[in-house]
Amino acid sequence: IIEIENLTKTFGHVTGVDDISLNVRQGEFVTLLGPSGCGKSTLLRMIGGFEEPTKGRIVLDGQDVTHVPPNKRAVNMVFQDYALFPHLSVGKNVGYGLRVAGLPRLKVREKALEALALVGLEDRFDAAPHTLSGGQRQRVALARAIVRRPKVLLLDEPLSALDANLREQMQMELKALHTKMGLTFILVTHDQTEALTMSDRIVVMRGGKIVQMGSPVDLYERPATGYVAGFIGSTN
Ligand code: ATP
Ligand code: MG
Repeated sequence: IIEIENLTKTFGHVTGVDDISLNVRQGEFVTLLGPSGCGKSTLLRMIGGFEEPTKGRIVLDGQDVTHVPPNKRAVNMVFQDYALFPHLSVGKNVGYGLRVAGLPRLKVREKALEALALVGLEDRFDAAPHTLSGGQRQRVALARAIVRRPKVLLLDEPLSALDANLREQMQMELKALHTKMGLTFILVTHDQTEALTMSDRIVVMRGGKIVQMGSPVDLYERPATGYVAGFIGSTN
């Protein structure tokens, strides 16, 4: 569903992403794994349309979207700091984008309820965001991201602000959501356990390049380099 061809992003003399090519299948759960500064967020932001590539091409669902703005792409992004509007109810937060897009009020309500049901929070529709726990707020952010039924969901370390228990629980819920919706997920993380347990395929990055990609079992048992082994290998 996504074809990334020779994508490069430079910031002045710094190369954030260096000539990356990558295809992602419909319904696949792909994880971008690597240390701080290796270009994970930059790559994800280019797929989402929040960053203009210096070179290369992105094809989404058969359409060249390289220069298409974020709101016109069939993707949605969940950021690490899932800021909700504090003065709007949970339901209005989730429906906000649809409302802005001009959908009638009743339709917005129906779709927001549907999305909240998918994350198990339909009974909190009228609640104020500050009455929710961190995990619940994260789920509202997810509901807001899926309310428009994007084909691809981009997740940039969405769980890193949560404590260990909650993170584990949310990992399972994300995975369940992925299975239930048949959506394509691209998750950024620097947590190897998260990558190993959640994804169909792991892409290991270093210095803006892909070092190795493959199934969790592949990378775990047959890391191509010492670098990959150090990150996720069984010899780690
Ligand atoms: P982290 O795990 O810390 O989030 P990352 O893998 O997401 O790291 P990126 O944010 O993609 O890394 O950054 C890749 C490189 O590009 C880094 O060297 C960073 O300093 C640089 N970079 C990213 N965004 C910008 C920007 N807006 N201006 C200048 N340099 C940037
Ligand atoms: Mg990042």
